[in-house]
Amino acid sequence: MHFHFTHEISIEGRPGGLALELPESCCNCGATESISWVDARLVRTTFVPFPVVFGSEVTLPIRLPSCPRCTRTMNRLAPTLMSLALLTFLVFLVALFPSWPIAGMFVETGPKRIELTLWISISLTALWPLLWYGAIRRPRNGQTTAFQPIRLVGVRRRWMSGDIRHVILEFTNDAYRANFVERNPALLRAGVVRVK
Ligand SMILES: [Zn+2]
Repeated sequence: MHFHFTHEISIEGRPGGLALELPESCCNCGATESISWVDARLVRTTFVPFPVVFGSEVTLPIRLPSCPRCTRTMNRLAPTLMSLALLTFLVFLVALFPSWPIAGMFVETGPKRIELTLWISISLTALWPLLWYGAIRRPRNGQTTAFQPIRLVGVRRRWMSGDIRHVILEFTNDAYRANFVERNPALLRAGVVRVK
């Protein structure tokens, strides 16, 4: 059985959107039993670091096939480099608060205490990704990722109209990607959908 969906963004020369054919197996772990279609949004965020951090988003509504165990990953956006950088900076700022009294236990107030406070904060900041990605956001039960298994990693638009010329999708499950490529030859040949 095949499933078709149509998304909201317009593809140049294709009024009504784009009909992708998604294989009906879990796009995260590859399971084929008890598959349900989960409403999800693929999001492509582009950051422009100047004059202030500015993000523009392209959202692609999609229904992703999932087994019961992977349902929660279908809408969990994978962190981008920029969001990680911002989060790391925030963690560093928060870590300063406990670091100041901790440093005070070892040195007298003064430049040495400020220096030690910074080092403790940096150490605490270095720990959080290990905890977060090593323990909490770890793929489980044969999952290929703890985050969204299909990602929108590129969007090329027409300069004047803003119409979408093509989208680039990335898959964490290699077998699923191969299956997707097999089922969408026309879109891939036309270059409207690209696969990473
Ligand atoms: Zn699954």
